[in-house]
Amino acid sequence: MSRFLSDNYKSLVPYVPGEQVNVKVIKLNTNESPFPPSPKVKEVLSEEVIDKLNLYSDPELKELTAAIAKQFDVTPDMVFCGNGSDDVLAFAIMGFCGRGGKLCCPEISYGFYPVYADIFGVELEQIPLNDDFSINAEDYIGKNKNIVIANPNAPTGLALSFDDVERIVSSNPDNLVIMDEAYMAFCYDSCMELVKKYPNLLVTRTFSKSHSLAGLRVGFGIAQKEIIEDLNKLKFSFNPYNINTLSVKAAAAAIADNEYYDDKISQIVATREKVQNQLRELGFRCTDSKSNFIFASSDRISAAELAAELRKRNILVRYFNKAKIDNYLRITVGAADDMQTLVSAITEILEERA
Ligand SMILES: *Cc1c(COP(=O)(O)O)cnc(C)c1O
Repeated sequence: MSRFLSDNYKSLVPYVPGEQVNVKVIKLNTNESPFPPSPKVKEVLSEEVIDKLNLYSDPELKELTAAIAKQFDVTPDMVFCGNGSDDVLAFAIMGFCGRGGKLCCPEISYGFYPVYADIFGVELEQIPLNDDFSINAEDYIGKNKNIVIANPNAPTGLALSFDDVERIVSSNPDNLVIMDEAYMAFCYDSCMELVKKYPNLLVTRTFSKSHSLAGLRVGFGIAQKEIIEDLNKLKFSFNPYNINTLSVKAAAAAIADNEYYDDKISQIVATREKVQNQLRELGFRCTDSKSNFIFASSDRISAAELAAELRKRNILVRYFNKAKIDNYLRITVGAADDMQTLVSAITEILEERA
């Protein structure tokens, strides 16, 4: 630490992303898609577009906003785009909860929520999950605080029902409810249609998981236009060109290619169900994940040891050294054949120890 860092930030504990590697490994640690993005993405990244990079990107992101609005059947003034959905979450938590505002979230959830709360001076309440890792919707009814919930939740993979989400949103009319739907494409139970009905709901999505574009860094939020206006006000006060021109073009092309992504998403869901069952047959406890990862624990080997053994075999999974989940692994659902390599490796590791 230098002598120059503001006292405000000295105690900050940053978010720790999953490892990125260059060597050839089976990478099941950061919930990326095993598939390349839609071929439409390559088509739009033309030389013509590259030659125009001397110009700033469109600060209003009209092309991308229109493409997203069309996909979700809302008007463009209901869409806010960010440099990853992390960017959208950051603007929302800063703007609606920052400098002494109140926010609550599940105790076991996306690791960035407490980090944002910390950096923006938000008073955060972390609400414990049920013993089976599900979220108790009752804990959020009439909470009278802003709320952020990942649905499906990470790293548990469990989803709240549409009805529970509506009860949470409708019972907190004077607070913002952020539903982080980073994994909703794998769950098919979005609350997106509720944004038209409730002025206090912001739904965030990302191109990183379902749309094979984690490296592009594009995410978005959908809400009624007053919320979007506020987010834009913050954005134009901080980083007006938050998405670059290439990302705008690529994401706009991707979001329109439903045929391509529906197929890839259903393959991932099918692989998830298959591997979850295989792991259960090996004696693992797995949550009923509705996302593109599996959350699994075994009594036969500790999660930390299993992660280390898999690593020796060039398979990366995510281990969280955190109370209540430190005997679980979060395993991204990768390509079908890689997942069979994983199952074989786990079988072998367990046999070696038997
Ligand atoms: C991955 C993830 C995000 C952020 O994704 P971006 O790559 O920033 O769009 C947000 N929320 C949850 C729960 C995630 O797992």
